[in-house]
Amino acid sequence: MKKKWVYTLDEIDEAKAAVDGDWDRVRGLLGGKGANLGEMQRLGVPVPPGFTITTEACNSYLSEGNEFPSGLWEQTLRALRTMEEKTGKRFGDPSNPLLVSCRSGAKFSMPGMMDTVLDLGLNDEVTEGMIKLTGNEHFAFDSYRRLIQMFGTVVLGVRDEPFENVLAQHRERRGVATDADLTGADYRSVVGEFKEIVRRNARIEFPSSAEEQLRMAVEAVFRSWNGKRARDYRQAAQIAHDLGTGVNVITMVYGNLGDSSATGVAMSRNATTGENVLEGDYLTNAQGEDVVAGTRPTKPLEQLSTEMPEVYAQFEGIARRLEKHYRDMQDMEFTVERGKLWILQTRTGKRTAQAAVRIAVEFADEGLISREEAVLRVSPEQIDFFLHPQFSMEAKAGHAVIGRGLNVSPGAATGVVAFDPDLAQRWAKEDKREVLLVRPETKPDDVHGMLAANGILTSSGGRTSHAALVARQFGKPAVVGASELDIDVRARVMRVGDLEVHEGEWLSIDGTTGEVFVGKLETEVPDMDDEWLARLMSWADEFRRLGVRANADYPEDAVRARKYGAEGIGLCRTEHMFFQPERLPTVQRMITTRSPAERREAVDALLPFQRSDFAGLFRAMDGLPVIIRLIDPPLHEFLPSFEELSRELTDLQIRITGARNLQEVEEITGKLSETQAMLDKVESLHESNPMLGLRGVRLGILIPELTRMQVRAVFEAACEVTREGHKPIPEIMIPLTSHVNELRRQRTVLEAEARDVMKEQGIEVSYQFGTMVEVPRAALTADQIAEYAEFLSFGTNDLTQTTFAMSRDDAESGFLMRYLADGILPANPFATLDEDGVGKLMGIAVTGARKTRPDIETGVCGEHGGDPASIAICDRLGLDYVSCSPYRIPIARLSAAQSALRARS
Ligand code: PEP
Ligand code: MG
Repeated sequence: MKKKWVYTLDEIDEAKAAVDGDWDRVRGLLGGKGANLGEMQRLGVPVPPGFTITTEACNSYLSEGNEFPSGLWEQTLRALRTMEEKTGKRFGDPSNPLLVSCRSGAKFSMPGMMDTVLDLGLNDEVTEGMIKLTGNEHFAFDSYRRLIQMFGTVVLGVRDEPFENVLAQHRERRGVATDADLTGADYRSVVGEFKEIVRRNARIEFPSSAEEQLRMAVEAVFRSWNGKRARDYRQAAQIAHDLGTGVNVITMVYGNLGDSSATGVAMSRNATTGENVLEGDYLTNAQGEDVVAGTRPTKPLEQLSTEMPEVYAQFEGIARRLEKHYRDMQDMEFTVERGKLWILQTRTGKRTAQAAVRIAVEFADEGLISREEAVLRVSPEQIDFFLHPQFSMEAKAGHAVIGRGLNVSPGAATGVVAFDPDLAQRWAKEDKREVLLVRPETKPDDVHGMLAANGILTSSGGRTSHAALVARQFGKPAVVGASELDIDVRARVMRVGDLEVHEGEWLSIDGTTGEVFVGKLETEVPDMDDEWLARLMSWADEFRRLGVRANADYPEDAVRARKYGAEGIGLCRTEHMFFQPERLPTVQRMITTRSPAERREAVDALLPFQRSDFAGLFRAMDGLPVIIRLIDPPLHEFLPSFEELSRELTDLQIRITGARNLQEVEEITGKLSETQAMLDKVESLHESNPMLGLRGVRLGILIPELTRMQVRAVFEAACEVTREGHKPIPEIMIPLTSHVNELRRQRTVLEAEARDVMKEQGIEVSYQFGTMVEVPRAALTADQIAEYAEFLSFGTNDLTQTTFAMSRDDAESGFLMRYLADGILPANPFATLDEDGVGKLMGIAVTGARKTRPDIETGVCGEHGGDPASIAICDRLGLDYVSCSPYRIPIARLSAAQSALRARS
């Protein structure tokens, strides 16, 4: 059987049958746009007749050196004939012309990234024929000039400027502001000038044969799949490069046939807030691209309900039907031609994170999807937006609003102004500057700059403009259509009244409210008090098996973590408390002194600090477990560096030679000997491999008074808060264990100290004793370790470092990047757990430990605890919980639920 490359819209069932009825594969075969057009036609939605050339045809064309595969053109012409029969018109026939559009449509929508040509089939004779038929010279020549410009730029690669210059000259000559105000006669002469531009720049005549036009347009759409902007977009959106695009050839319908015609775009729900209302923009007497280009101020869709009430009601009904059918919010394009409504496209609507959450929850409430589906529909990254920075009221109070636009993508962004995308990219990537991309409007070619910028500001365009869509998709705060701003890209300046903002100056935008401020405003992270998010998260909590705890060192972190849903603390790194400025000198004294008495004194001085920190954690986590890890890092981290001390020593030696009196000499001499002592200590602590040296449990064994002090602080704090009526649940954790004997020894010290404190205080506190698993030996011998450990927590930062023998501090700025670029490693193992290696060790550890102690508690507290893909691995390994930074808690809760739901299916 001959390969089928072309499906008419009413052959959608045949297309489905070709891929066993799998809708995902139908979209793969026809592209999203083509599949949905066919499906709408099947549902009885008014869609103009047309056909789709498959993505397979595109892939074949591209792989065969830009040659149509055999049979494609014949099938295209046959489908064209079917269109002619349906419409009763003929392609290229001046007496009754059929005009068509030719649009790309890939499996995943890539707004504006590939090519489109409208009004194919017009030439000099057909245009005259159209005038005879419609009596409308303005319309006919407006369409013709649009075709030549689009064909010239898209198919023949002519730059846009010469065309735009011609239009600008005509507008000036006629003294009008918009192209729509030019006359038919103006357009007649524009057409002549456009043809000349094509002749001069492309060195060919604009083709007058309708079929030749179509053939060239189809090829251009195929080729646009591999265009730079499409490739860049796919890279950023992680869309595969081998999918290919479909080509949709559809009967043209016109929104520019007078005041009973219109064209617009609409979302079935508000794409910013998720509210269940139709939202969109339209223009009367205009073509589709006028709406998205943002060149004419659009009207809000509600206005259509008064201008064309019947059309509006019909559209509303269709929108609801499509939502129900696709079980998701729809983004639609429509045209009204002399009062008749046509739907030209529907697709799943892009939306902000807030909208995604609200829509998922309300769809579940409306019974369109299940709660499980609702939880699966929101990505963990979207939850992140609720934790996005916002400007505080105080920050805003100090800065005047200099402009307002549409709040199309939420969050606060500040940066220095860059007026072009290349500069934005360079400043952000090379100079590590924070940048805002500021443009009159954005085009698909600007995407690299948009992605590099912290946020996007435009002076024109609507909610459905390119800038808005891209910003929303990638979570960039954006304000568009801020029309008071005069953005002069050539002069590299933005003017608002008398105010000028030059390139490189700070600007701030609030994508949540649409406000624009001069200067750099302070940002803060908002509370997650969105009611729909709270409901979604409560459903997620019902579905997940994994517990979620926080890595928190200070009481205020613990309070925040609990608010975000943490079910305890999975890791408190106690040494972080030592770094506080008022404590550090005491810590240094403890490390440097040779006198046991002085060391004890220093250790004792640290006790009250630790006690009060632990008490704060226990209060914040009342009734929930708090894992406190004893001191871990190599001691030299608490001391000044060797280089710093040597420099100081040289300075003091110079100063002593210039001393003016004996007192000064004595003073400097004192400092000299102190610095020298510190330097000696630093030298004595020097290790070639400190991360494999005196750290973790080894420290606790060598300085037992430090272990005892920390344990005492934990239990004194626990007794104190018990007395206050709270329920502390301490779990004491030993870091970097590699041998069971280390643990046995530490447990003896710990139990003795704990007993002493509880006896002194007259209070019993139940607690657990456990260890981190962060070296392979601990994982491999977890069966032995479990004899002394009631819980295990995988320190996957170190476990990754020690398993790969790859420094966690250096690899990511060195060879690891090359490994990733060359595909030697599939992912950064410090970001996403290496399931095959590190994951395998974890599995061995869990199995071994459970053999010895079936109810042993297991969790992860490395950075992987907040990474969705790693959380799924931990779920598969059967761990009890993941622990991550407070800001990742909601993400971890959702990821855990999604992992559990995916495991069910
Ligand atoms: C780890 O190694 O994964 C861990 C949690 O400990 P730290 O990052 O403090 O070394
Ligand atoms: Mg560690």
